[in-house]
Amino acid sequence: MKHFDLIVVGGGPAGVFAAGFAASAGKKVLLLEKNRHCGAKVLITGKGRCNVTNREEDPRRFCENFGRQGKSFLTALYAFGVQETIDFFEHRGLELKTERGGRVFPGQGNATDVQKVLERFMADAGVVVKTRCTVKEMVQLEGRIDRVMTSQGSFSADSFVIATGGCLIRKPAVPVMVTSGPRMPDIVWFHLNPHWSRSDWWRTGRLN
Ligand SMILES: Cc1cc2nc3c(=O)[nH]c(=O)nc-3n(C[C@H](O)[C@H](O)[C@H](O)COP(=O)(O)OP(=O)(O)OC[C@H]3O[C@@H](n4cnc5c(N)ncnc54)[C@H](O)[C@@H]3O)c2cc1C
Repeated sequence: MKHFDLIVVGGGPAGVFAAGFAASAGKKVLLLEKNRHCGAKVLITGKGRCNVTNREEDPRRFCENFGRQGKSFLTALYAFGVQETIDFFEHRGLELKTERGGRVFPGQGNATDVQKVLERFMADAGVVVKTRCTVKEMVQLEGRIDRVMTSQGSFSADSFVIATGGCLIRKPAVPVMVTSGPRMPDIVWFHLNPHWSRSDWWRTGRLN
């Protein structure tokens, strides 16, 4: 069984950023995506044009657009905000344009250009990407996640990021942000088997 520093489950924008930045920092990273390509949902965003961000430079005002939950984005925005997002894409050769209301789109108005940048980011950083690979189970050992069972075999890691996207209907679930560093649980909702929620890693947000 292959072992990694970090396994990221889900190849949407969240998973790609987590995997790419961890690999850029020297970690051995595996990203597992059940679709044929990473960032499949990106292709339908912004009606196929992908609204990358909004040129609202003040994080507090940016968050106001997300209602009462908006404040929960503040920490993330201070760490990686609008300008960092724009720089991320422009430094990788993607021209951006700003439209009405400050909405920022790829210059050619094509969401595939965004998806390509995300895939290239991971390739350049050395992320091992497995597509058409569905994570079926995460196996716990002594109170921490030890490995994932997938449609392409088992893989173990020191840390795991679950970035499988949200659900359309909010049902009772356990909110967790699973990372190797200190994070607060936030608006990411997961449905876990009952025995998982009895262990205490989800309360601390730490696996290791
Ligand atoms: C119609 C529409 C338009 C949108 N327009 C915009 C826009 O213009 N701008 C914008 O910023 N946002 C937009 N969004 C929101 C944006 O799509 C999401 O915020 C973003 O995709 C969330 O990224 P994510 O990585 O958290 O999740 P996702 O993009 O959902 O990625 C999760 C990934 O996990 C994979 N996965 C799930 N379960 C497993 C498993 N068991 N094993 C392996 N892989 C798994 C999925 O296949 C998926 O690729 C739009 C959303 C929709 C629906």
